[in-house]
Amino acid sequence: MSTPNEPSFRESVDIMFNRAVALMDLPPGLEEKIRVCNATYTVRFGVRLRGQIQTFTGYRSVHSEHMEPVKGGIRFALGVNQDEVEALAALMTYKCALVEAPFGGSKGGLCIDPREYDDHELELITRRFAYELIKRDMINPAQNVPAPDMGTGEREMAWIADQYKRMNTTDINGVACVTGKPTNAGGIQGRTEATGRGVQYALREFFRDEDGVAKTGMSGTLDGKSVVVQGLGNVGYHAAKFLSEEDGCKVVGIIERDGALTDPKGLDVEAVRNWIAGHGGVSGCPEGTHIENGAAVLEMECDILIPAALEGVINQSNAARIKAPLIIEAANGPVTAGADLILKEKGCVIIPDMYANAGGVTVSYFEWVKNLSHIRFGRMQRRQEEARHQLVVDELERLSHHLGDAWSMTPDFKSKYLRGAGELELVRSGLDDTMRTAYQSMASVWHERGDVDDLRTAAYLVSIGKVADSYRAKGL
Ligand code: GLU
Repeated sequence: MSTPNEPSFRESVDIMFNRAVALMDLPPGLEEKIRVCNATYTVRFGVRLRGQIQTFTGYRSVHSEHMEPVKGGIRFALGVNQDEVEALAALMTYKCALVEAPFGGSKGGLCIDPREYDDHELELITRRFAYELIKRDMINPAQNVPAPDMGTGEREMAWIADQYKRMNTTDINGVACVTGKPTNAGGIQGRTEATGRGVQYALREFFRDEDGVAKTGMSGTLDGKSVVVQGLGNVGYHAAKFLSEEDGCKVVGIIERDGALTDPKGLDVEAVRNWIAGHGGVSGCPEGTHIENGAAVLEMECDILIPAALEGVINQSNAARIKAPLIIEAANGPVTAGADLILKEKGCVIIPDMYANAGGVTVSYFEWVKNLSHIRFGRMQRRQEEARHQLVVDELERLSHHLGDAWSMTPDFKSKYLRGAGELELVRSGLDDTMRTAYQSMASVWHERGDVDDLRTAAYLVSIGKVADSYRAKGL
């Protein structure tokens, strides 16, 4: 997607890394140690399909093992290549450090168009790829824990977990070898929508930061803000849905592979998603106006632009024409290093990928902890919490009895207050807390350091600082 004179995705990540380390005082050599990818494993394997053997190429790249296990999704897409998985693995390192998920960075990919295969064929391919990675400990609850990414979801994760268990029958922690599993196979509630939910929490926290909002030239809250989203996959769909249903945003543009839909009054995200599920794209969708050249809609007037699809979509060829004053990178690497400078020059604020889409790995962390502790969150405390709340309610009711009707509790308050937190509430609370804390650590650098004028550099400074600290603690 990037222009010919644009660096590759991995180079682009390295350039942004270099811009940040130039402002740091790292011991000699440590900078390079952190930047480079530790190892990338390439595997080619055959699967007998439709009467013949088909050969597939897959990768698992480990960027940094300053903490183990290393963590990061597995992508199924035709464009997968070594450069891309290495860039994505590096971003995982910085992402985990920023949100304090105790992992190093990794990423995997398989060159395949999953839409070309039926369920059974995909299961054979996924299990075979998993087998190749498991036997080299590149999937392992203590060493390397994959998760969903583009083209994969909970179904693939369940196959991987099952494959691991078949090959490690006595590993009591086997189910923690992968996250993003279905809830009936060791998953955690709230993981599927976690990345989109994280984008929503990130935006809410951004709009609590008056100085940050002032830099965009906007004011107020999320309510009434117009949003353009590129990619209505798992991340883009959930972000757009939550922002429009819960925060009063208007989704004025949705960009997909086959064009875009626009409506200044706001599109019905659910209706568009259903149309895409049934028709494979937005063409013919009765919602809004169909625009053939989807990329042009990135340049539409709006308050918030959410690229939630591929890397490199905002590059040197279109950056100058982007009008949104605020971009939140729901995808990994949607803005190239060159475009980043052009946008900064224009005064556009970018909430960077390593923070914006960290909701997924954050809830993956909760899932991994749940798997290792072998107990669902809230199982021990929930009823006890309810019983203690009941005590307070009973006491207040006894007191209000003497004070008359004006002092009685509303039924809504009572039912809300009495309900103890279950797994989903705890996951949301943990995610919200993580997104707020990480934003504050990044924003304080942005606002307080005179030599840092963007959130991405601030995010890199925080995360590289944390990775450097762990290397120092290891005595390196
Ligand atoms: N693939 C997701 C990402 O890019 C999630 C990774 C994970 O949960 O480990 O962050």
